[in-house]
Amino acid sequence: EGDNSIPRQRHRVTTKGSNIPEYAETFEDLRDRYQLSSLLLSNLSNNGYSHPTGIQSYGIPILLESRDLAAISPTGTGKTISYLLPTFASLRAPVASADVDAGLGVRAVILAPTRELAHQIHNECLKLAQGRKWRVVLFSKATANTLSDKAARDKVDIIVSTPLRLVASLQSGSLSLSNVRHLIFDEADRMLDNEFLPQIEEIVAACTYPNIQKAVFSATLPANAEKIAMDMLHDPIRVVVGLKDT
Ligand code: ADP
Ligand code: MG
Repeated sequence: EGDNSIPRQRHRVTTKGSNIPEYAETFEDLRDRYQLSSLLLSNLSNNGYSHPTGIQSYGIPILLESRDLAAISPTGTGKTISYLLPTFASLRAPVASADVDAGLGVRAVILAPTRELAHQIHNECLKLAQGRKWRVVLFSKATANTLSDKAARDKVDIIVSTPLRLVASLQSGSLSLSNVRHLIFDEADRMLDNEFLPQIEEIVAACTYPNIQKAVFSATLPANAEKIAMDMLHDPIRVVVGLKDT
């Protein structure tokens, strides 16, 4: 950990879509282009993230320009930061702080197929959240209960959950997703299938915020999952990172 184990020259990157933003060579490029906060930048470097990986170089500008994205990149290439950095940057500040007028309720949802994966994503969130009072909730039966109180719920910035857990709260009426501006599917190949589809559709339908940004990340995207993704995304950009032949 702490070092970019796959140097970017070994990545073969293909992109598809309209008006694709230029990739960023460094995190400093991203800061300058998109006015990222110095706190976010120092949180990256303090956690040993000194140089973006391939999917980060391509994916972060796309998400910061509010585009929908289907990102396919091998395991271990840093997909988590690819969506977390732009999510934190776009939310700008915790909802409970005075410096954003963000409306009420959770503004970003990250879905993962298993609780263990959601737990790992939550840990990455905590790294980027350092130094500000972000409320990032790893959704479980227990945390969902604490959010049955609307006042508590309105102060949450980001929820990380499995689809099943989130749908349970939607169905009990104890959660609203109407202020969600960023909806991310991680390990999407394991969620965009016929088994999960009814839950996914219920979640997407509950996210009624206009111009919501959606993104899917995966190591692979089989044809069926790709079709579901493309039907769900709006004018998406598709980025595929492969390892060059060795
Ligand atoms: P993936 O989701 O693509 O499998 P992860 O997001 O889990 O990859 O990241 C894999 C590992 O690389 C993690 O330990 C993470 O902390 C680390 N990592 C991510 N981005 C960087 C970076 N830019 N520089 C160094 N390490 C990174
Ligand atoms: Mg991952």
